[in-house]
Amino acid sequence: MDIRSQVSMVFHLDKCIGCHTCSIACKNIWTDRKGAEYMWWNNVETKPGTGYPTKWEDQDIYKGGWERNGDSISLKGAGKLKGLKNIFHNPHMPVLEDYYEPWTYKYSDLFDAPEGDDQPTARPVSLVTGKPMDVQSGPNWDDDLSGSPDYARNDVNFKDLSVPEQESLFQLERMTFHYLPRICNHCLNPACVGSCPSGALYKRGEDGVVLINQERCRAWRMCVTACPYKKSYYNWNTGKSEKCILCYPRLESGQAPACMHSCVGRIRYLGVMLYDADKIHEVASCDEKDLVDKQMAIYLDPFSEEVIEAAKANGMAESTIRAAQLSPVYKFVKKWKIALPLHPEFRTIPNLFYVPPMLPAMASVDSEGIYESTTKSLWAGIDQYRLPMKYLASLFTAGNEQKVKDVLSKLLAVKIHRRDVTVGDLPREEIEEALSLGHTDPTEADSIFRLTSLATFNERFVIPPAHREESIEMIEATADAKGETGFGFKMQPARGL
Ligand code: SF4
Ligand code: SF4
Repeated sequence: MDIRSQVSMVFHLDKCIGCHTCSIACKNIWTDRKGAEYMWWNNVETKPGTGYPTKWEDQDIYKGGWERNGDSISLKGAGKLKGLKNIFHNPHMPVLEDYYEPWTYKYSDLFDAPEGDDQPTARPVSLVTGKPMDVQSGPNWDDDLSGSPDYARNDVNFKDLSVPEQESLFQLERMTFHYLPRICNHCLNPACVGSCPSGALYKRGEDGVVLINQERCRAWRMCVTACPYKKSYYNWNTGKSEKCILCYPRLESGQAPACMHSCVGRIRYLGVMLYDADKIHEVASCDEKDLVDKQMAIYLDPFSEEVIEAAKANGMAESTIRAAQLSPVYKFVKKWKIALPLHPEFRTIPNLFYVPPMLPAMASVDSEGIYESTTKSLWAGIDQYRLPMKYLASLFTAGNEQKVKDVLSKLLAVKIHRRDVTVGDLPREEIEEALSLGHTDPTEADSIFRLTSLATFNERFVIPPAHREESIEMIEATADAKGETGFGFKMQPARGL
């Protein structure tokens, strides 16, 4: 066992109100600079929708992530050899139109316009050319209520839905949407790191944060193609690539990343997960249907004596192990099994997990527009949810619908149990049935409710004390043992941006 610690995140999608405070907090701190205007290290998109950059999930277009070849994997479209043939023109690289042309407004017109009958307006001006522009798209251009033929209907996750299934979603009474906030996943098998010919990308030994060494970056932009989440960006002003740094200077001083600290819906959780780096190759190259289970198995029980001993032998500080024991991410992902990775089929082993949305959990609408309830009480069955399971499975479980159903059944059981606690108007047998279907009990349901709804700041963010020395020790130990760690990437001491 090669035990490492990873700072990981959970986003609870039912709580996101799409306010974009997270995006603005990140923008103000990190990307309010020349060359970075179009970058949103944190963005929030509406689903169903095409996202930012447009259709980023479609790897037939962008060729991001890894693909399986027998027992091994290789980068889909980037990497040292595949990238070489596209050295002068890479057809898979997103261009500015795929993101959007960034703009500001000519605010001076509000003050300088000559006196007239009409109110002066501030016209949009391109941040690239400086000229007036007609705004055509933006980083969250998808349509709330998801009815748009240009956006919702082109969502890549509809690919396995039949035409009638898709069309039923666009009936006015059935329309639904949810928000999907996204940052870099600080993956265990990061395609960006694997693709860089200059060795500029690296994963920090002590907490797994993935960074780009600005001195080493030679503008190959392989990482932009390789990242299937499109979370590595090219700065046209500096000639270097950039990405989310998980606010590591804040983490090192015990503060939550800016997007998390500012989250209005309190949907975000951050904590340490312990994992076995020896298993990365096995997980990344396994059969698609096993991807979620194998990924869950790579994370270890921080209370196990064997794990604690092996972690200490690997140079891990006791305070890191203690943080892993208190981690809210561990509870959501491993203990309760109600948070899932986004697009595990990209095989990067992402460390950002989502509690999938319940969406309208109330009675559904029948074909004549009449509200109906298929159960004895307020809630429709899982199968009556407005967004088809196939859609959610395409987002979170590489197509495994049962895994999504298991999560939603547990979340529904928590709702029914809490209704019983607070209102007490449901028949006993219905409560028992819900708890049994959700594979949970009143004690666990109360714990899930508490961390979801009432958790304090310190319960939501359990940040391990910084241990830069761990990184150095791990690199030295690894260099002695085998020269390289994990799968296809080197660990380096952080040199920062
Ligand atoms: S999500 Fe982040 S760590 Fe993962 S491949 Fe993309 S840029 Fe790299
Ligand atoms: S700040 Fe929180 S609630 Fe608002 S959009 Fe971002 S993730 Fe959602």
